[in-house]
Amino acid sequence: MSEKIKNDQSKLDKIVALSKNRGFIFPGSEIYGGLANTWDYGPLGVELKNSIKREWWKFFVQEDKNAVGIDGGILMNPNVWVASGHVGGFSDPLKDCKSCKTRHRADNLIANSPIGKKQSIDTDAMSTTQMDEYVEANKINCPHCGKSDWTQIRQFNLMFKTNRGVTDDSSSVVYLRPETAQAQFVNFQNLQRVSRLKLPFGVGQIGKAFRNEITPGNFTFRTVEFEQMEYQYFTHASTSMDDYEMFKSRAMEFYIKRLGIEKKQLKFKDHGTALSHYAKAAVDAQYNFPFGFGEIGGTHHRGTFDLGNHQTHSGKNMEYVDPVTNEKYIPTVIESSHGCDRLVLAVLCNAYHEETLEGDDVRVVLKLKPCLAPYKVAVLPLQKKDLGEKSDEIFALLAKNFMTTYDETASIGKRYRRQDEIGTPFCVTVDFETLEDDCVTIRYRDTMKQERVPIKKLVNHITKKLSK
Ligand code: ATP
Repeated sequence: MSEKIKNDQSKLDKIVALSKNRGFIFPGSEIYGGLANTWDYGPLGVELKNSIKREWWKFFVQEDKNAVGIDGGILMNPNVWVASGHVGGFSDPLKDCKSCKTRHRADNLIANSPIGKKQSIDTDAMSTTQMDEYVEANKINCPHCGKSDWTQIRQFNLMFKTNRGVTDDSSSVVYLRPETAQAQFVNFQNLQRVSRLKLPFGVGQIGKAFRNEITPGNFTFRTVEFEQMEYQYFTHASTSMDDYEMFKSRAMEFYIKRLGIEKKQLKFKDHGTALSHYAKAAVDAQYNFPFGFGEIGGTHHRGTFDLGNHQTHSGKNMEYVDPVTNEKYIPTVIESSHGCDRLVLAVLCNAYHEETLEGDDVRVVLKLKPCLAPYKVAVLPLQKKDLGEKSDEIFALLAKNFMTTYDETASIGKRYRRQDEIGTPFCVTVDFETLEDDCVTIRYRDTMKQERVPIKKLVNHITKKLSK
């Protein structure tokens, strides 16, 4: 049995096709010609995504006695975004091509140009003027029309604006949140009071964020609407660098142990001197996607930036009083931030395998960690008419415990392949012997081995395998 798939654009194309054909991810509003950088999760995609969110919540919130959760609103008082720095500074440097009128991010133009690639230019460390000069000096062409006739860079704010109420004036402006984190900050005193937790403690949140991204997305890698899983750890400045290092390791542990992503496909990219307005130290975690390494999450040392600014802008006290030492201080925050949609994509890329079996037969199999698979188990009656009733009973038993699917069409070989392609780890085959001995055949996705298991032991048997 051999594997034959390169990590390149053709692999991504296959994953995009499989996602659409089998119901993981559909292009957004497809019947109207789509809407750039938007996608809908289908029946299998929603299960996979929910499983990733569940694993994240378990790892960061449920299993930690010093952590709680929150589910903040998407719309917040606009002053939140003034205090957080997003109104003033959350922007992309954009250049317009005067010839074909398309709009591009200057950092991407440079990084993707032949000269930028050759010189491995780090655009994060360049000012707007330096980027303008670089594009001009190197005559970087428009990827759309091939000309080099650019406007100067304009900073373009990524926040989506809308209006509430009946008027359209500036007093009615609200923003769709560009990150989830601010709910943890503005609620810091509420959270501390109700949880009665002493510092250090953490608060997790999973929710939608919105950014007016104009560059093409590489499938779901860059979208205008996405889900973040963000954890804020409130701590004391004196231990904060150690905490920062701990959360870097925890992020990797989550990707490798909980999501089953291969260690060798992951790396850190330190922000070095190119830190965001809020950060004292920051690192991206990157996955080796078919289009290259891309960010899936980040660990950020945010210092006292957020709570300090909210204290200044709201006039409300954000300090913590240590019950033992009586020290009064604004907590330092370490953030562990993860993009749910990018992790879905990373998990799909990591799981996609093509295996050549005997006679050049190619088996497509998604080797998802069993706990992430959309369906944990499939019930497959060998024959519809006489085995339907028994199979229904088995389905009802399993479906109370696991996401279970039922398939009675086509040959059993074809049905196994369908389940392999969507990552179902266990297939339960009901045959005529089942009616005699109350046992079924269970077939394992990765090894394709089969064994006979009594129906009364089936739930326990699968539960044990799922916990591995
Ligand atoms: P990028 O540099 O790729 O634009 P970022 O550094 O702005 O990302 P953060 O603000 O740190 O991203 O957001 C935290 C996480 O949210 C990212 O690590 C990523 O997984 C996810 N994320 C950010 N922007 C998008 C997007 N447009 N589409 C999908 N996921 C996103």
